Amino acid sequence: MSSTASTAGIVSFEQARHLVEQHAAGVSPTEAETVELLAGLGRVLAEGILADRDFPPFDRAARDGYAVRAADLAEVPARLEVVGEVKAGIWPDSAACSVGCGQAVGIMTGAPLPAGADAVVMVEHTALTQGVLGSARDTSAARFVDIQRGVRVGENFVPRASEAWVGQLLLDRGRRLDHAVIAIAASVGKSRVQVFRKPRVAVLSTGDEVVEIDATPGPAQIRNSNSYSLAAQVCDAGGQAVRLGVAPDEAGRLRVLIEEGLDCDLLLLTGGVSMGKYDLVERVLGELKAEFYFTGAEIQPGRPVVFGSCGAGALARSGDKDAAGTRAVAPVPHKRYFFGLPGNPVSTMVTFELFARPMIEALAGMTARRLIFLRARLKSEIRTKTRLKRFLPAVLSGEFENAEVELARWQGSGDIAALARANCYMVIPPDRERIEAGEWVALLMR
Ligand code: AMP
Ligand code: MG
Repeated sequence: MSSTASTAGIVSFEQARHLVEQHAAGVSPTEAETVELLAGLGRVLAEGILADRDFPPFDRAARDGYAVRAADLAEVPARLEVVGEVKAGIWPDSAACSVGCGQAVGIMTGAPLPAGADAVVMVEHTALTQGVLGSARDTSAARFVDIQRGVRVGENFVPRASEAWVGQLLLDRGRRLDHAVIAIAASVGKSRVQVFRKPRVAVLSTGDEVVEIDATPGPAQIRNSNSYSLAAQVCDAGGQAVRLGVAPDEAGRLRVLIEEGLDCDLLLLTGGVSMGKYDLVERVLGELKAEFYFTGAEIQPGRPVVFGSCGAGALARSGDKDAAGTRAVAPVPHKRYFFGLPGNPVSTMVTFELFARPMIEALAGMTARRLIFLRARLKSEIRTKTRLKRFLPAVLSGEFENAEVELARWQGSGDIAALARANCYMVIPPDRERIEAGEWVALLMR
């Protein structure tokens, strides 16, 4: 590493993740825009969403049946006179349709509870009958309902405002719009929502052997798949990918492209961060007065991963020269974070998920969330080496609650075919040489 770079070392996975989280906590988006509700899917709310009325706006029947007074059913079976019916969407007229002593009103799910009622009996526990009113003078036919089961006061209806009251904050800014968030926005009449502008994330691949995907690779060349997998991961994390192509393993051109990338909100580099003679990324970033927070993590795949920032200080522009003909140093107003991800395609994908994703989510305005692992039982025994925490492509299978997981067969961190067959990463702690079939193991879904 260049002497201009501040020194940083190799840290544990947990330290690396915490460092990213700490820096991510200090960034935020600056601009917002208004979009149609459905166009907001996957975007991040820049405004809080308030209840525009009580939820529910009235005591809402939760079952089809009869609105009753619970006290009338203290002894069952009981017979109540049916004095009306309320459908969903109709406001019950309290004069014509209220529940008095010994009375019931037919009610449908979603309808407002009529006056006088304090519970709903499910239709399954009732039988409708014809009958004659009890008074000796009145012999007109009436409808009655025979009820087999009692109810408690408040049963089978949702009281007004029990879910939310008018003016209550339902969704805070920073929530990413998924179907549930969209349902809430829709229910309060927000056909347009304010969302944050997506962060622009530069993606720069490096390596003399890497060619663009529509080129025919020479015998020793490979196509630039990393720029595409990263661009897809950036979109998935809520960012907008700006692909800068491929930088050769040559410091001058690499530096120009890195400077271009630092104009975006975040720079992702792939390749060139290992110990090889032509791994120039850290050196060039060092020349640009980068500050490094870590230059490796004790993980596999992805050990050489680098995290740092440039700017908010002096950043040399390679094109600019001062009067003496030496490079001018132009201040860069904003601090720009970068990740140097190892070039092996699976390492690139894994280190993105572990470290770059939370930074993009923060730049997109999302409220920070913890990395959460699932657990499943191991299908067949594993033997590994100790020292590094491993995130290995794995297949979670089984039916319903009987999930089990096994490692995908793979040829190492270049094996994208194995990763495509996998549906998760199995997390193997650094101190385990052998894990037996049937043990619980942690997983990170992908
Ligand atoms: P590096 O990290 O530069 O040492 O690269 C490690 C491995 O990843 C090498 O086999 C590279 O050829 C491969 N690689 C580097 N960059 C890319 C890329 N953009 N797309 C696909 N493979 C790559
Ligand atoms: Mg390389």
